[in-house]
Order: sequence, then structure tokens, then C-alpha cells
Amino acid sequence: MRKPIIVGNWKMNKTIAETKAFVEAVDPAVTDKADWGIATPYLALATAKENAKNLIVAAENLHFKDSGAYTGEVSAAMLKEIGIEWTIIGHSERRQYFGETDETVNAKMLQAFNNDITPIVCVGETLEEYEKGITKDVVKTQTVAAFKDVCPKCAAKAVIAYEPVWAIGTGKTATNEIAQDVCAYIRSVMADLYGQEVADQVRIQYGGSVKPEGLKALLEQPDIDGALVGGASLVEDSYKAMIAALD
Ligand code: PGA
Repeated sequence: MRKPIIVGNWKMNKTIAETKAFVEAVDPAVTDKADWGIATPYLALATAKENAKNLIVAAENLHFKDSGAYTGEVSAAMLKEIGIEWTIIGHSERRQYFGETDETVNAKMLQAFNNDITPIVCVGETLEEYEKGITKDVVKTQTVAAFKDVCPKCAAKAVIAYEPVWAIGTGKTATNEIAQDVCAYIRSVMADLYGQEVADQVRIQYGGSVKPEGLKALLEQPDIDGALVGGASLVEDSYKAMIAALD
């Protein structure tokens, strides 16, 4: 049985003070129906981690090198020093605005696993790719590239977030049937890479305009094991409504 995992992706939102207030309000409401987490900007990670007893606290990115002349970047060791054991990798906004490629995503995956940091690796097609009907080709290419040289034991621990770019922050969600179909396909790609046993352990999230009211039905899909949630994870009541939705 794969335990559901729901992670809020805060993107470039919330100050340290706002983070502390959020964690104080939401952390006590967390139940064991799922793994619940928040991915926060770097500056707020330490505060989130110090105040969270139940929430997973994840970074939104990490650099693929150990250290060096990479102005503005943050290393795995820096994250580990403050107790961070999770990170998002390859979010479409990083691919779109910050030059993230399949190659850097793979380098970051390897760096995360080498440092015992669990990645939530994002894949997903753009609107243009969706309209061309090449969604599965795109997610396959991204998944195969992300997991290059990742060992089966590590792969089994990974979380993959399927996020159609056209559904992120747009209010448009893929139907549960579309999301299920693509998530099942991603699992079959993992089975081709690693065998069915590993593929059955990988948790696959859907992301893109997920709202509390849609969460339960989404998670009833057999290959959808969680959600990566942007906008609806920022407001305390809305996050708590997601927790309540699974109770
Ligand atoms: P959204 O963002 O829920 O606001 O669409 C999801 C994401 O980008 O991870």
C-alpha cells in the first residue's frame, strides 16, 4: 500500500514570520491519513523545520554540485545542516524561467540521493504539447532522463509529480481520468526502467490547480498517490480543508 503524500509548493510566497504562523496553525491538524508537507523558499526552511512536528518540510530546489562558484545557489549539505530531507526538483517554473533541463534535473536527482534527500521530481507537458497529443512522449522523456543512473533502491523512494503545465495556477485541472491515465503511464515507464516491484513502490502525485474539494476523488484513482498543491496550500484554512477531506 502506498501512503498518500500531499505537499504544498509555496513557490516565492511567505516570509519567515508568515511561515511560522502557518506551521503553528496547521501542523497540529496533520493526521496520519497521508504524509503532509510544505515546500518553502530557502529562507523560511529552518523556521518551518523548527516548528513542524508532523509536516514534512521540503526545499523547492537544490544545486547539483557540492559547493563552489555558483552564485545564488544552495547545496545539499546546507539543506541537510538544517534537517531538510526532501526537495522538489524540476518544477515546470524552473524549467521555464531558470534554464532547468532534463540533464540538470538528473544531476540534481543524483545529488539528492547521494545526500539522503528524497526528491519530488516534476514532469508534465505544456499546453502546446498537450494539444499536439504528445503528453506521454513528453513525460516519458522527462522521466527516463530524470532517473538516468539512479539505482532501483533510490528510485523506489522517489516521488514523481505529474503536473500538466497548462493546469498550473490556471484553475484548469486535468480530469481525474486524464490524470490517472498519465500517472499509470508514468508507472509503466518506471516498470520498464526498474521492474514492477519498484514501480509499485514509487508514489506519483498529480499537481495543477488541486483544491480541497477535489482531493479525495483524485486520490481514489489507482495510480495517483498524492498531490503537489500550489495556490490551495498557501492559506491555512484551505490546507486544513485538505487534511479534513481525507479524514
Ligand atoms: P497550483 O500549483 O496548485 O497553484 O496550480 C501547482 C504547482 O505548481 O505545483
